[in-house]
Amino acid sequence: MTESSFSISGKIKINWQEFVAQLNGIRVMQKPAQVKKASRDFFWYSPILEQQLSDKFADIVLQPQNQDELSHCLKVAYQWDLPIVVRGGGTGNYGQAVPLEGGIIIDITAINQILEIGDGFVTVEAGCNIEKLNQTLKNQGYELPVFPSTQNIATIGGFIAGGSAGIGTMNNGPLREKGNIIRLKVLSVEAEPKTHNFCGDDTLLVHHAWGINGVISEVTLRTVPSRDWLNCIATFDDYVTAYAAGLQVAKNAKIECKLLSVLDARYGNYFVTLENHIQKGRALMITMVDAREVAGLKKDVEACGGVLELIKTDAEIKAEKLPHVYEFSYNHCNLQVLKADKAMTYLQVSFPQPLTVDKVKELQPLLKKEVFQHHEFATINGELIAFDVPAVRYTTEKRLYEIIDIYEQHGCSVADPHKYQIEAGHMHKANFIHLAWKKRLDPKGLLNPGKSMAWERVSHLSADEIEKLTGLEG
Ligand SMILES: Cc1cc2nc3c(=O)[nH]c(=O)nc-3n(C[C@H](O)[C@H](O)[C@H](O)COP(=O)(O)OP(=O)(O)OC[C@H]3O[C@@H](n4cnc5c(N)ncnc54)[C@H](O)[C@@H]3O)c2cc1C
Repeated sequence: MTESSFSISGKIKINWQEFVAQLNGIRVMQKPAQVKKASRDFFWYSPILEQQLSDKFADIVLQPQNQDELSHCLKVAYQWDLPIVVRGGGTGNYGQAVPLEGGIIIDITAINQILEIGDGFVTVEAGCNIEKLNQTLKNQGYELPVFPSTQNIATIGGFIAGGSAGIGTMNNGPLREKGNIIRLKVLSVEAEPKTHNFCGDDTLLVHHAWGINGVISEVTLRTVPSRDWLNCIATFDDYVTAYAAGLQVAKNAKIECKLLSVLDARYGNYFVTLENHIQKGRALMITMVDAREVAGLKKDVEACGGVLELIKTDAEIKAEKLPHVYEFSYNHCNLQVLKADKAMTYLQVSFPQPLTVDKVKELQPLLKKEVFQHHEFATINGELIAFDVPAVRYTTEKRLYEIIDIYEQHGCSVADPHKYQIEAGHMHKANFIHLAWKKRLDPKGLLNPGKSMAWERVSHLSADEIEKLTGLEG
């Protein structure tokens, strides 16, 4: 193999010098250590994915600095038939940003301009860091309705392509809730990449497709008036009491929370930064509550037998160098456990309706030793829901799937985070509408290859034929 055809992935044999020459000076990273680092995301949360994905690398990283350069990257990749993975912050948990077939990573983080802030909306380039976006919005009296707990690293395009819910889903629904995403500007991968604008409900044709059916270059999102949220932590004798209190607060129409999470007491052992702020050994309620409604929160917490131990403004949290309370919620509380204890992993479980304390009690004796229960309360179209994102002690793959079975036998639905194909884990079935748009926007199937199991079966069909499979095939 000549130097110019050296392949880091071991999968692509082309003359890389010639390929780079066609990029007309667009920045690239080719050092194996850099390319390998950019090929990883947070898939290490799963010991199963760690085994399957840790030897999967791209061959080169392209770093376009604006949308024209992005378009040129796609054009050249199309000419060379190269697999493409678009990368934002690389914080996905299921290996979404891992290149399975080698080829190129497009690092989109330099395409990050905030283009317009209007009354109730913001238009921003896809590579914009979410924390920076939220901060800029706050200075003008707005905030994002929903953002992930990884906002300090994640990009807005990555959240739309790979994420779903987060801080704000309690009061504003998930990303997919009507009105949250207003418009997505998406590039196709063709000889001459074309721009498509998806508006309103049509944004769902691209949202949460893991970057397989188009490259998001610009987004317009709803914004909401910014509020003074108080960051609070309450503690309880046990998890059942904490969950009951969570349900009560969630149902109390007089208390608006942007975040409402309840956590097994064992999580507290890993929250070293909270040591001097809350009692040890107690179940936790983590919440961001409208400052005007904190008295109501205190009343509900105490009525349920809890103690409201920490109440801080954002400024106080910053001054005291504490992590923000949302870093004790969603998958961030698990991050702190997994970093400290390599034998831990996690699951993602939806609880059935109606939400009851009995369901928690029913599952506890079956899971207690290995599972740290952790529920996020949220609303979808106004309906209160709860999902369990527990940290789980991992012994064997067999035992992990027995735990999943226990949840499912008790009426809970599990979005398996130990799978790297979109249909296998998260969606449970193929999304033929997403795949039809893949055929239209990515006819050669270059975007994030290997992430859709169904694509292999349908890629020979026309887009309209693929779309017609909706409801017919699983
Ligand atoms: C500790 C932790 C906490 C988390 N908390 C949350 C949470 O609260 N809510 C939540 O939803 N998720 C959460 N996640 C998952 C993840 O952080 C979010 O989904 C995040 O928003 C992803 O953004 P990113 O920029 O890192 O995307 P990346 O990881 O870079 O990419 C995610 C996927 O989107 C694709 N993609 C990226 N940019 C584009 C683009 N411009 N066009 C097309 N495709 C693109 C990638 O190819 C990949 O498939 C968490 C993960 C961790 C590790």
